[in-house]
Order: sequence, then structure tokens, then C-alpha cells
Amino acid sequence: MFFRRAREDRAFREAQRAGYELLRRLQATQPWPGCPEPTPQDPAAEEVAVPDFLPPELRLPSGQEVAGVMMRWLPPLVVDGEVRTCPGCGMYRDWIVFCMRDDSIWLRCRAGHETREPGLDAAWFNRHSGPADHFHPTLQEGLRHLGH
Ligand SMILES: [Zn+2]
Repeated sequence: MFFRRAREDRAFREAQRAGYELLRRLQATQPWPGCPEPTPQDPAAEEVAVPDFLPPELRLPSGQEVAGVMMRWLPPLVVDGEVRTCPGCGMYRDWIVFCMRDDSIWLRCRAGHETREPGLDAAWFNRHSGPADHFHPTLQEGLRHLGH
């Protein structure tokens, strides 16, 4: 889940959607036009063809282009054997967990208290979050999407 740091960019999202549609259509057509069959000596050819295929403006935003990624974490969050509680209100479940561009992890409770979680890192976040499925131009839009 991405959210953009500042500006609305509708054209970007439309281009992104168009890119997915194009990719989906091409994937339904085998073999890919202009894409040679991988030879037995080069079994990785098919894998490397995909990231090189879409022009850069149609790819998902990279880590440098978004302020961070976020996910909802409903059960109690246990870090180093301890359940994390919100220092603002004592809540211990239903977090929004952010992984920021600098790889820091932040927790946000339902009441909107935000606190840094030094016991977690980007590797932990990547293990527990699914693939990015939505792009949000603002933080508020991302929070609404996640039910906060
Ligand atoms: Zn709180």
C-alpha cells in the first residue's frame, strides 16, 4: 500500500492502470510479441523480460517516490515478546503500521497517536505485508482505505 507524500497525480494513476491493462493483454498472448523464446541455456530470460518491459512511467512508484508504505495490523502487535500499547491511549490492537522511506517503522492507533517502533524494521514489514495493491495520493486517503 503506497501513499504519495504531497501532490495529487491523477495522470500517473491512469497511466499505471493503462500499463496493467496492457500487461494483462500481452500476458494473454503467447508467445509475447517481439520477445524471443528463452533458450535452454538462459532459463532466467522470461523472468528478466518482465521488469524491462513496461516503460518507467507505467511501473509502480519506487521507494524514492513515495513517503512510505502502510498496512493495517488488527491483532495485538508483539515485539520482542511484549505486546505494544499506545503511549497516548493504551490501545494495543488495530494499528496502522507505516514503513517510511528511511526504513523506520511507525505505529498509529485508531485515535491517531503515532509512535516510532524501533524494535521493527523494513525487513519485518516486508515479511508481513502483502504486495502493494493500492496507491494513495495522500496519507488521509490511505488511512480511510484501511478503515481508520
Ligand atoms: Zn492511541
